[in-house]
Amino acid sequence: MTKSNKLYSIFFNKCPRCGVGDFFVTKSAYNLKAFDKMHKQCSHCGLNLVPEPGFYQGALYVSYSFYVAFTVIYFLLYVNFFRDYLDYFLVSLIPMLIILTPYFYRLARRAWLALFIKPESV
Ligand SMILES: [Zn+2]
Repeated sequence: MTKSNKLYSIFFNKCPRCGVGDFFVTKSAYNLKAFDKMHKQCSHCGLNLVPEPGFYQGALYVSYSFYVAFTVIYFLLYVNFFRDYLDYFLVSLIPMLIILTPYFYRLARRAWLALFIKPESV
């Protein structure tokens, strides 16, 4: 797996073109003061990380798909392993979705930009 790979850049907070420069300012999704602060451009290759105003509205649909995928997987695991406690499914799901919100927010923005940017071959 080379460094300029879409999945690598999405999961490891890197620029989708070069895979070297950081995408978000902080490494952690749980730094509540700055988890949503992005670099304006890549510090390595200079790629503009905000191509146009409102570009990241599309990331909303990506994060929605992450929530749906997580909910379906969680439900299937729950039905298989905790069937006797099915009453608690929603009670446990909602706090988990809230806790995952900053993580999915960042993942969705990186995935959305990576859809439009071709990785540089190394
Ligand atoms: Zn870059």
